[in-house]
This record gives sequence, structure tokens and C-alpha cells, in this order.
Amino acid sequence: MRKIQDFNFKDIKAIVRVDFNVPLDKETLEVTDDTRIRGALPTIRKITGDGGSCILMSHLGRPKGRMEKFSLKPVLPVLEKHLGMKVLFADDCLGDSAVKMTAGLKPGEVLLLENVRFYPEEEGKPVLPETAGEEEKKAAKAELKAKQKEMAGKLASYAGVYVNDAFGTAHRAHASTAVIAGFFPDDRKMFGFLIDSELAAMDRVLKDAGRPFTAVMGGAKVSDKILIIENLLDRVDNLIIGGGMTYTFIRAMGGRIGNSLCEEDKLDLAKAIIEKAGTKGVNFLLPVDGVNADSFDAGADTYVSAIDDVRDGWMGLDIGEKTISLFEDVIMKSKTVLWNGPMGVFEMDKFAAGTTAIARAVARATEQGAFTLIGGGDSVAAINKNDLADKVSYVSTGGGAMLEYMEGKTLPGIAAIRG
Ligand code: AMP
Repeated sequence: MRKIQDFNFKDIKAIVRVDFNVPLDKETLEVTDDTRIRGALPTIRKITGDGGSCILMSHLGRPKGRMEKFSLKPVLPVLEKHLGMKVLFADDCLGDSAVKMTAGLKPGEVLLLENVRFYPEEEGKPVLPETAGEEEKKAAKAELKAKQKEMAGKLASYAGVYVNDAFGTAHRAHASTAVIAGFFPDDRKMFGFLIDSELAAMDRVLKDAGRPFTAVMGGAKVSDKILIIENLLDRVDNLIIGGGMTYTFIRAMGGRIGNSLCEEDKLDLAKAIIEKAGTKGVNFLLPVDGVNADSFDAGADTYVSAIDDVRDGWMGLDIGEKTISLFEDVIMKSKTVLWNGPMGVFEMDKFAAGTTAIARAVARATEQGAFTLIGGGDSVAAINKNDLADKVSYVSTGGGAMLEYMEGKTLPGIAAIRG
């Protein structure tokens, strides 16, 4: 497999799939967080620095056809500021403007193509009325798949090399993330620096973890995290559970959880996970105490109780202090920590203490030499909110993609290059 650092892009046009799916201000359409744009800069600089030219393509949001509020135009000034140069813009990724501008691109130049999702064939998922029959659905899907291939072929025709640096969409088999790679020979396609570093961080945790290895799983639902939990049970020494999913486990063990979040249809599964952890010798840690509220509200009345003794009508919205000490202790003794999902409803200050404490403990463990990987939108937000991003080993940019990789799944955007 080609490595970007070993490739010389001199006089070569590279088409690069980046993840510029950035948040925009609803009124002004200005970029409100440029993390993803900054993430793509090393790859762009490498290509232009070698004397190559760079054709950037990305999606933004979920447009249904061409919709101006999903235009990538607001990205331009931010990108120009970071690169310190003019960036060209084609207002359609497949139209005449793109064909002409890519053909005329000179070494050192950068061109951004308009949102690839203005075309439904990018994703290849037909939008059909609910009344559509099976045959109709099948035919529409086949037609769109053919168009997807056509779109990928057209994008590929703009350049001599394909670089995928959009980790956030690597779990999608879209025209610009996976299908396009089929149009380039093995030595003309590669990952960008961002995907390379994401893969290195995840592989270090999955295949080469220093021990003890602790996974901290939080967030709302067991059902979202079940596959990753099962995959991790084969790898970790400690599995810490926090957040809303705690209560499905506590309920499964016969505890009182009041109105706390609970997935009734996952109780058997929760029991099976606890048993599996036991047979695998994994130290399975649930919270021992929690902060309970009388309503899901920032101004709610609260009290602390044992995790399995929540009063009727109350709900657990954060882990308690005893739990924080217990979890901190395990994290501080770890050599590898993977953290995904908040410990409570951290969006409300009143229920953010548990998540903040875990974020700080992960940073302290890093300082002591542990390798720490944080993934998933909410835990990343918690790390950023506490200004700890540069105090942990790696913060993943791809929530869904990271989860799927950690679940052991093959990501189409990765497989299309790695083989
Ligand atoms: P997820 O997307 O599954 O990682 O879940 C994140 C969401 O879980 C956040 O919006 C949190 O507010 C929410 N959450 C965390 N702990 C709890 C809890 N104890 N009860 C209800 N929601 C929670």
C-alpha cells in the first residue's frame, strides 16, 4: 500500500476526499468550528508542497438535491486563511465548471468542488415514496448504483491520484469515499495523513495495547454500543460503564432505577454481557452511586443515592462521587484507555461533574505515560470543553466510523484502499 509521506506529487493532480462537513451558523452561514478543515491541512500542504495540485471534494450536511444552505462556499475563506493562498471553487462537482477547472489546474493550486451530496448517486440511496413496492425499490436502487459508478468515474477522471482523508465517512460506501478508489491502480491511491493517524491510533488500541487496558463506555443507550462492548470484552482488562446505559445493567441485576433511562428489551443482553465479562476475566465496573433528579431539567431538584436505589419518579443523570473515585483509580492505573460516551447528561452543568472528572483523569493518565484514545462526538466535546485536547494521546474525528472500526467491522472507505 502506498504511503502519502513516501509519494512525490510533483506535477500530479490529486483528488482528495476530505471531511469538510463543518457546522455553520444558521443566520450568517459562517463556519462555527473549523476542526475538520484544520484536520485536512497536512495532506493538502504535502501535495502542494511537492508541486502537485489538489482537487478537494466533500459533503456537507444532508441535502436533498441542490440546496444553497448546504453549499461548501463558506469553507473557502477559512481554508484560504489557513493555507495562506487563494483556493479555487467549482460550483458543481460534476458540471462543466468542474471539468474545465480541474483540466486547467496548475501545480501548487487548490480547487474545492461543490458538495458531492448535491447528487443522490453520491450516497446511492434512492428516495422513494413509502408506497413503493419491493420491485420498484430494487430497480431504483440498481439504477442509482449504476449512476454512482458513473459519478465516481467522472470524479476519478479529474486526477491521476486518489487520496482519501475523510475518516468521518470512511464507514460509508459512497461514490467519493469508496467507489472512486476502484478507478485507480493500487499505486495511485492512498490515505491522507488524517486517516493514517486515525488508523494508527485505533490499531494501537486494538492490536498493541499496553496493559492494563481500560475501556470507558458511556452515553445513552446500550443498543448503540453493544457491538463495540462485545468486541472489547476480548481485549480489555477493565470495562467501565457509565451514562444512561448504566441503568439497563442495574435493572437487569434487579436494582431500583426509578424513571432512569432503561431499554427493557435489552435486559437479557445486559445480563449476558455481565456474564461474558465474568467468564473472560474482565473487570466489569458499573457506577456505585448516582446523582438523581426529579425531572430532566437543568434546574431539577437532585439527591445522591446508591446506583441501585433510585426513588420512584426520580432519574439518574450523572455518576456520584464514590463512582468518580472508583473510576479515576482504575483509569490512573491503566496503560491504555479508550473512552467513548459521557458519564451523564453533561450538556447541563448540574450533571457534568462525572464526565468532567473522567476527562481530567484520562488527561492525568496520559501525563503518566498511558496511551489514551477518545472518540464519539460527546466525549470529544467534553474533552474540548475542558481544554484537554492536547493533553490526551488522540482525539478521533470520526464518531460513527471509529465505533464501527472498533466493533471489528470492515469500513468500505478503508477497504477500498487497503484491500
Ligand atoms: P450517545 O450518543 O449514545 O453517546 O449518548 C450521548 C447522550 O447521552 C448525551 O446527550 C447525554 O446527555 C446522554 N446521557 C448520558 N447519561 C445519561 C443519563 N444518565 N440519562 C439520560 N441521558 C444520558
